[in-house]
Formats: sequence, C-alpha cells, structure tokens
Amino acid sequence: TERPRPLVAGNWKMNGTRAATKTFAAILEGYDAALRSKVDLLVCPPATLTYIFAVAAVGTPVKVGGQDCHAATHGAHTGDISAPMLADAGASYVIVGHSERRTDHGESDATVKAKAAAAIAAGLTPVVCVGETREERDAGRALAVVGAQLAGSMPDEAAHAPVVVAYEPVWAIGTGLTPTVADVAEMHGFIRQSLVDRFGAAGRAMRLLYGGSVKPGNARELLGVAEVDGALVGGASLVAEDFLAIARSY
Ligand code: PEP
Repeated sequence: TERPRPLVAGNWKMNGTRAATKTFAAILEGYDAALRSKVDLLVCPPATLTYIFAVAAVGTPVKVGGQDCHAATHGAHTGDISAPMLADAGASYVIVGHSERRTDHGESDATVKAKAAAAIAAGLTPVVCVGETREERDAGRALAVVGAQLAGSMPDEAAHAPVVVAYEPVWAIGTGLTPTVADVAEMHGFIRQSLVDRFGAAGRAMRLLYGGSVKPGNARELLGVAEVDGALVGGASLVAEDFLAIARSY
C-alpha cells in the first residue's frame, strides 16, 4: 500500500529568540533538492517567532507551525493564542496535546480534541500528540492508554481534513531513552488500526510520527519502523545540522 510522504517536524518548545533565525536559515539552506524529494520539513518555534520564520520560509517548501492553540477563535483568554492567529502569522500546522501541555497545563483529551478541531477550522493541520508514562507502560497499559487518548483527542473532522498523529512516550521525551523497535512497531500498528477503524481511508493516509529522543544516531532505525511516517523532534531540532541529519536518514 502507498505510504504517506514522511514528515520531520521540529518542536523548539520554549527555546529561541530572534537570533535563532540563523538556525532556521541554516535549515532552509540545508533542505536541498535531494532532501526535498524524500521528506517534508516542519519547524514549530515559540509563538514569538512564528511570523519571522514564516516570512523567512516564503518561497521554500518548509512549513512553520505553532506549539499550541486555544480552542476559541478570539476573546477573553489572556496569554493564549488562537488557531486563526497562528494561520495569520504564516503557520500551517499546530502541535496540540503535547505531554508538556497535558502535564503543565492540565489539558484533557477533550481540550486537545477541541483545539485540534479549532486548528482544522482555521485551515491548520493539527499534530495531535499521545503517549503513555513509564508507569503505564510498566503496568502493561501502554496500548490501552494511547487508545483512550486517541479516541478522546482526535476530532471527528479528521475524517475529511489533514491531521498528523505523534506517538510520544512521555518517558522518552528529553531523556535520551527510546522504546525498542518492536515496541514502536506494536504501538504504531495499533494506532494505525484504530485510525482506520474510525476514519477509514483517511486513517490509512494519516501521517504517524514517532517522537521522543530522536537523534541523528537513532533516526534511521526509528524511522525505518513500519507505520512510522516521520519524527517529532525536540532537542535535536534546535541544531540545524542535527535536524537535517535526521531528515537525511530517509
Ligand atoms: C518532544 O518534546 O516533542 C520531543 C520529542 O522531545 P525530544 O526530542 O527532546 O525528546
């Protein structure tokens, strides 16, 4: 069956000031014809840099994304940013439900689902994040936990709008730890089946990213796993050469 075109996405988290435009320029520069023929690139900087990066990326195929959005389009939500605002600033994707949002801001599956739906309504592609904790995996509950997160976090609109799913085991994020290839294959196969069951052909076409301590040294192995259509990269995406090296493993 035809595989979706791979996507390598960088999540800069709360890192980067205008000086980091240099790093982004190096990513744009390094995304040469050979890479372009194989893989899509997305960079999600802090919201303060969305517009400046989007302007820098004009005329290139590199996409810029947000790291979160509010479920509402506008209103009395001090400190929040809406999906239409991100779109207006030049973003075409937005991460929703990252484990750091779920933990630091108490975001529930229902909140994540509403944010993903808001993203779609604004013309953005949401990157919906799911993943189990160490305790949940050790208790043999990883598939059940991720299945429940998917059921609760994926909006019905995913049946007819582009959505990306990122599997990010919480214990692998920023730790240098990664699941075994067998565990990634089991989880991605399970996620694919769940998506096909719910969304049919759209579920088959959806890109499923693996995230959690992806580095140049382990990217080929992780990205080679069945049903892994790319990576969501945190720490390594802050260094242009590392981010590009991950993309080059395709
Ligand atoms: C992330 O936070 O999305 C992530 C995958 O981080 P890291 O690559 O640093 O583990």
